[in-house]
Amino acid sequence: MDDGGVAKSRVQYTIDFDRAGRQTGYLRAPLSRNTSGWGIVEIPIVCVRNGAGPTVLFTGGVHGDEYEGPIAISRLARSLDAAALQGRIIMLPAVNIPAVLNDTRLSPVDGRDLNRCFPGDPKGTFSEMLAHFVDAVLLPLVDASIDVHTAGHSMEAALSTNMHHVADPEIRRRTLEAASAFGAPFNVVFWGVDEGATLTSSVERRGILSLGTELGGWGRVNVEGVRIGERGLVNVLKYLGLLEGRPDTSQGDGSPRTRHMMVRCQDCYLFAPAAGLFEPRHLAAETVEEGRLAGFLHFVEDVDRAPIEMRYNRSGVLWMAAGPGRVQRGDVVAVVMNDYDDAKAAT
Ligand SMILES: [Zn+2]
Repeated sequence: MDDGGVAKSRVQYTIDFDRAGRQTGYLRAPLSRNTSGWGIVEIPIVCVRNGAGPTVLFTGGVHGDEYEGPIAISRLARSLDAAALQGRIIMLPAVNIPAVLNDTRLSPVDGRDLNRCFPGDPKGTFSEMLAHFVDAVLLPLVDASIDVHTAGHSMEAALSTNMHHVADPEIRRRTLEAASAFGAPFNVVFWGVDEGATLTSSVERRGILSLGTELGGWGRVNVEGVRIGERGLVNVLKYLGLLEGRPDTSQGDGSPRTRHMMVRCQDCYLFAPAAGLFEPRHLAAETVEEGRLAGFLHFVEDVDRAPIEMRYNRSGVLWMAAGPGRVQRGDVVAVVMNDYDDAKAAT
């Protein structure tokens, strides 16, 4: 544990990442609090290693109100047979454990979004310290990272993997291939709204293969999202050669494969122009058209005030549909995606 970047982290751990077999334990992240100046927060970690092969990192619970990742990764961590493996899997099913136990997107410790704290700071706030540990200690060990998210309480996502349009065409090709192997109904290549400080961006800066997911949302456990997530994690292990066998990518609608999509422009995002009660007209994964009604923004506190009609700026498929009824000015209420086109994406 005493080598360069590792030593600088304040997070302690007992796992020996070089040891073969299955190890379980907890990261011990220091947190001074009223009940304990020397207190720690324990974060579950499982490492399974056997033979020679790549290292894969599975993370869930980066946001505490996203349930499918913690469920799928915990189940895999309990059931995986080390003898069947060629390589190493590092699993953190509930990275942001204070937020997971608080059922919130943001950490209750410092009010931060862990996924906006990368690459982190070992001497920063709790979330920044945690981000630094993942970036400086774990990522140097890793060949591929799958960060399992959903849309939490804020949106409802079409079941999908996602990736950035990374500049290196070879990494981009391999990531698209890994997404196809994961086998969600959709894979979304996107440019994002606020991406520089995400885990994904840290992974990409290190030239490591990075996939995210959006496997549900709306503040509940998505039945199909858990199924697609569990199958996808195993599929990726097969694709990378850690497990034997071929990925099963069959889709519920009879399609044999993932549909690759992209979110290229800012006008793919529809923002609420005022605080109000949003009545959506479509569900995630539905086809929508430019100029058609996306929903009504109601002001039920005002007698006789007409709702604002909100219309789509683009045609496509809904990647994200509105979650809660009550929205703030500037909240995203819809995200539209279009079929992926590498030539168009590069422009
Ligand atoms: Zn998330």
